[in-house]
Amino acid sequence: MMRSMLTWPQRWLPPVLAAFMAVTPTTPQLCPQDKTPMTATGNTRQENGKMLAEYKCEQGHLYWVAVD
Ligand SMILES: [Zn+2]
Repeated sequence: MMRSMLTWPQRWLPPVLAAFMAVTPTTPQLCPQDKTPMTATGNTRQENGKMLAEYKCEQGHLYWVAVD
């Protein structure tokens, strides 16, 4: 019983992380204003049938970027 509880993170963390990475857009984006790398915030929305992902740069600018 104790053993199975201890091994739970090792068994389930990798697939959970893999699933999280799969839904996170990996295309590098640069902020149009200051050219710093932008990272996905995890927010997405649909517009005109296209998926948009919210990105944030190091200076805090927010942009919606179309993803496939
Ligand atoms: Zn910026």
